[in-house]
Amino acid sequence: MPAVLVVTGPSGAGKGTLIRKLVERVPGIEVTVSATTRELRRGEENGREYWFLTDDDFLARVARGEFLEHVEYVSGHRYGTLRSELERIAANGHVPLLELETEGALRVKHEVSGAVTIFISARVEELERRLRERATESTGEIGERIELARKQLEQAGEFDHVIENDDLERAVAELTALVRGLLGATATMPRR
Ligand code: ADP
Ligand code: 5GP
Repeated sequence: MPAVLVVTGPSGAGKGTLIRKLVERVPGIEVTVSATTRELRRGEENGREYWFLTDDDFLARVARGEFLEHVEYVSGHRYGTLRSELERIAANGHVPLLELETEGALRVKHEVSGAVTIFISARVEELERRLRERATESTGEIGERIELARKQLEQAGEFDHVIENDDLERAVAELTALVRGLLGATATMPRR
């Protein structure tokens, strides 16, 4: 059984969408709540999507060694995985699932034994279309995310598995089958 599952890929690839569907279908997985210094989006709640921290608080936690990994992403926003999240999930007897950008994902792959990394991919033009439609970032930040996405797509081969998210239902089926195989689980939960 993997110690941790990591889902990575460029912004707009569909990581969040696929993870939500995965956890509905496969029991025994719990998504870590990362810390970030970016602003809350409409509909987000502190402690649910992220722990929203000030820059000072984030850096103080870095200094105290509270993070498994942390990065500075576009627009100077920081993101990181708190070690306490892994401990909380392991105490529940579940496998932690981390949703990370590629730099953090590669760090976890190399530093956490038993980590399995899954790269979610999509064409750049499609990423741009989805981010514009999602409309959660400014035009400038979408541009930054797309520039970064071009570089991230070239890194796909460095991860253990790559899933192309063109057709959503097919991608969900592929991810679900992969993770069930990794967990050795045959049990399924009813679709909501
Ligand atoms: P990420 O978490 O990787 O940034 P999201 O899960 O937020 O990506 O998806 C970005 C946007 O694209 C969302 O609005 C989502 O509904 C949409 N989306 C996700 N997968 C697909 C797909 N296969 N086809 C079309 N739209 C998709
Ligand atoms: P968003 O601002 O769209 O929620 O996330 C931006 C990017 O940060 C996404 O690619 C997401 O996967 C990544 N991310 C979220 N939490 C973490 C984290 O704890 N560590 C790292 N390295 N990346 C993260």
